Amino acid sequence: MVVKVRQPTLPITELEQSAFCRTDDDLSTQPLEEELKAGVRWQKIPEDYYPLSAAQLDERIKAAREKLGRRLVILGHHYQRDEIIKYADLRGDSFNLAQYAAAHSESEYIVFCGVHFMAETADILSRPHQKVILPNMMAGCSMADMAPTEDVYDCWEELSELTTGHGGIVPLTYMNSTAAIKALCGRNNGLVCTSSNAAAAMRWAFERAQRVIFFPDEHLGRNTGLKLGLDLNDMVVWNPFKHLGGHTPERLRQAKLILWQGRCSVHTRFTVKQIQQARAKYTDVKVVVHPECLMETVKAADYNGSTEYIIKIVRDAPAGSKWAIGTEINLVNRVAHENPDKTVICLDPVVCPCATMYRIHPAYLAWALEGLVEGEVVNQVSVDEETSRDARVALERMLQLV
Ligand code: SF4
Repeated sequence: MVVKVRQPTLPITELEQSAFCRTDDDLSTQPLEEELKAGVRWQKIPEDYYPLSAAQLDERIKAAREKLGRRLVILGHHYQRDEIIKYADLRGDSFNLAQYAAAHSESEYIVFCGVHFMAETADILSRPHQKVILPNMMAGCSMADMAPTEDVYDCWEELSELTTGHGGIVPLTYMNSTAAIKALCGRNNGLVCTSSNAAAAMRWAFERAQRVIFFPDEHLGRNTGLKLGLDLNDMVVWNPFKHLGGHTPERLRQAKLILWQGRCSVHTRFTVKQIQQARAKYTDVKVVVHPECLMETVKAADYNGSTEYIIKIVRDAPAGSKWAIGTEINLVNRVAHENPDKTVICLDPVVCPCATMYRIHPAYLAWALEGLVEGEVVNQVSVDEETSRDARVALERMLQLV
């Protein structure tokens, strides 16, 4: 076996993650030239968009949208800012949105206000005549960036070699990964999961082999493994910068769940201390967090689940109930706004939007739509046919889960 050792590198999106954090809670949209001062990477667009106010952009977006009519569908992920969500024909999590786009084949243009891997999934599931557009190509995902395709392919090669004849291994990837990683799962009897069906997907995988490799979120993988009754000793973390992920062949063969070392910079901010503080401040508060949070945080919370789960549990709760939520701030603010009969707070007192989602400023949406009106498709996200075919296999296996 060739020994492969990589130099540790942090994805730039990870380094930029705190760029928009603030202690006041004013997340209202400023002209792009103001927001550019945050010092993160932005895609360059024509300079006349830079000074436009939110109100001016609003008019231009509305006008372009009207001209495009049913040829256009705008999708908004839950973590987008309000000034983007208000234009969305549908808001949801990444997979709901991709499915919705595929079901609306009359729309020639799918403008995906989310991050890059989501636009890729929409392209994989959409029809050949549909074009998927990501308004700002710098809207990546720091978690997905922690699993570069080449590193994942090396890891898979090493693990397959080690486990063949020793109970095998199934690759399972979270939706937050490149199309090429989804394709690897499709080609190797594996599948994709979302945070809503991670437990069912992992159970499916364990029915087919003695062990599972979970990409790219260590925390969702560990929290899901614990839910299925695994012990922490059954799990190892694969460090892509070390030979064999930092383990001996014996330890890897002994492990049931191998967790890729990746994380969400937004959800790992939530701590047990914040939960204790919320409980001290609000009597009878219920705490609900996303399963991308640290294991300790998930254990200290009352509930954990996907964005859709969080929205539903608060919506269905009795009036007067109190909720402390550990997920992205734009979603928490919206849940608070839509449930005025309840007290809804974010666990983290520092307001820290997902810096990659936040890059979809209305100026980018205006630019993308006005381009379409002029017949120019900007920022198309397109996955090659072979990768799409194999990734679709992994997505379809997920859809067949009960
Ligand atoms: S919230 Fe976390 S996982 Fe979601 S897009 Fe942002 S960095 Fe990626």
